[in-house]
Amino acid sequence: MKCRRCHAEAAVALPSHNSAFCPECFLDFFSRQVSRGIEEHGLMTKSDRVLAALSGGKDSLALMLELSRQGYDVTGLHIDLGIPGSSAEARAVVERFCARFGFRLIVRETAAEGLAIPDVKEAVKRPICSVCGKIKRHIFNRVAREGGFNVLATGHNLDDEVARLTSNTLRWDMGYLADQGPMLEDTEGFARKVKPLWRLTEYETANYAFLMGLENHYAPCPYSQGASFSTLKSMWIGLEEKMPGRKMHFYQGFLARGRSAFRAVAPADSEILAPCPSCGSPTSSDVCGYCRIRSLVLGRRHPGTSGSPQADGTAAGCQELDTSPAGK
Ligand code: SF4
Ligand SMILES: [Zn+2]
Ligand SMILES: [Zn+2]
Repeated sequence: MKCRRCHAEAAVALPSHNSAFCPECFLDFFSRQVSRGIEEHGLMTKSDRVLAALSGGKDSLALMLELSRQGYDVTGLHIDLGIPGSSAEARAVVERFCARFGFRLIVRETAAEGLAIPDVKEAVKRPICSVCGKIKRHIFNRVAREGGFNVLATGHNLDDEVARLTSNTLRWDMGYLADQGPMLEDTEGFARKVKPLWRLTEYETANYAFLMGLENHYAPCPYSQGASFSTLKSMWIGLEEKMPGRKMHFYQGFLARGRSAFRAVAPADSEILAPCPSCGSPTSSDVCGYCRIRSLVLGRRHPGTSGSPQADGTAAGCQELDTSPAGK
């Protein structure tokens, strides 16, 4: 098999693009897909200050490296969740990665705020991933606000987006379907959220990480329950094998025609945001979700107290999908 561009021996076959590339041409293909994804939806410009969530997984590291190679002003944020058997290794991978390439890195520990995830899991009755996600989004937004970053970038790829779109469709969740896409505009107190790898599959990102010699974080979170997304991703792998290119068609068709239809009928987001009296984050409730979780966890540890958040509290990071469109 020959490289489509230079006719050298191909190393990566891409049936969905009806192509195969040698390593050098594949890296060029990857870069062009990222810039195209950014430009098509106006995700960001070189004058934006970008904060990239670094979980330690290949997608987040590939995102950071590629944005930096393309000249974006990007800083990494890693959130150490304090999960035994997973978090220390993820953090070490991120720290080595940033040291190797000379990237700026901010690390936040949820334990420093009394919210090591195993403690949170003990205290709350809800599924831990939704609570963990809320804590991470809160810290991500807070670090952005405090550090003057106006764009938050995550490493979600095409497979993540299509699995989420399928999940939202199976539930006919009008609100989520109206909001899903590579960019969520900034709202009062929340930075813009972008997914610059949305045109690239997991397979393509894995090849990029391999060819760039990126070390990956292999120890999955022990609380991971990604069964439904894994099922949907497996379904799409089977479909894509039989119908190459269908995944991208489905997602692009949704962005071009489906989303506007849902936006036309989904109830408008009429939430009025005001600063949380406890931590200052924008919220539509009397106290924000993060402060409610913190109060619950600390109150349980010290009965009779409700714990107030540190003004300079810190951040979090994950390998799993963020299923919330608003990310608030
Ligand atoms: S799987 Fe992800 S979201 Fe769930 S608890 Fe672990 S790190 Fe948090
Ligand atoms: Zn080539
Ligand atoms: Zn709060």
